[in-house]
Amino acid sequence: MRLTVVYDNEVYRRDAGLKSDWGFSCLIEKDDEVILFDTGAKGEILLSNMRNLDIDPSRINKVVLSHEHWDHTGGLKALESFLGEVELYRLGGEAPSENMHLVLVEDAQVIVDGVYTTGRLEGFVDEQALVLRGRKGLYVLVGCSHPGVERILDAAKRYGEVVGLMGGFHDFSNLSILRGLDFISPCHCTRYKRRIMDLYPDTCGKCGVGMVVEI
Ligand SMILES: [Zn+2]
Ligand SMILES: [Zn+2]
Repeated sequence: MRLTVVYDNEVYRRDAGLKSDWGFSCLIEKDDEVILFDTGAKGEILLSNMRNLDIDPSRINKVVLSHEHWDHTGGLKALESFLGEVELYRLGGEAPSENMHLVLVEDAQVIVDGVYTTGRLEGFVDEQALVLRGRKGLYVLVGCSHPGVERILDAAKRYGEVVGLMGGFHDFSNLSILRGLDFISPCHCTRYKRRIMDLYPDTCGKCGVGMVVEI
C-alpha cells in the first residue's frame, strides 16, 4: 500500500513545484483502489499538487473526509468534475454532486480489504480516522485528531496491533504513548512536531506535500 501526501502545511519535496497550505490530504493506493483521505482547504492547490505529483484524480474511487472542517473538506468541490463515480465517506453533510455517493459513517467498518474506518469518535469536533493494514501491522491515518490521539489509537486497536501513526495530531502532548511505534509522521496541525522528532529520532519522519510512504 502506498501513501502520498498531497496537501499539508509543509512541502516535503522541493523540486516539483508543490505548494504548502494549512490543511491536509493524503492519497492511498492499494492495487486498483485509490482512496483520497481529506481534501485540504483550497481546490486549486489540491489540483495543482496532484498534477505536479502525476496523480490523475479520475483514478480516485473513494473519498473519505475525517471531519467537517474547511481545511479537510475545502478541496472537495473543485475535485468533483475530475472524479468519476466515487463513494464519499463522511460523518455529516452531503454529497456535493451526483457522481459522489454518500456513505454516512457512524460505526467502525471496512472500506476496502485492508482499509478500515474507526467510525465516528466524539470530540471537540467528531472525527473518523483510517486504519491501514501494512506489511508490518496497522498504520493509523488521522486528520486533526480532535477526539484525541489516545482515543483514536484505542479505537484502531480493534483491528489489531498498531505500528504507525501519521497525520495531524493537533495539540496532543501525551507523547510517551508513541514509544514503541515503528513509524510516526506528525503532519498538518501537530503542535509538538519538533518535540516528537527529538524524542523519537529513529522512528519519526518529517511530513509534507510529496512525501511517499510504502507500508
Ligand atoms: Zn479540524
Ligand atoms: Zn485540520
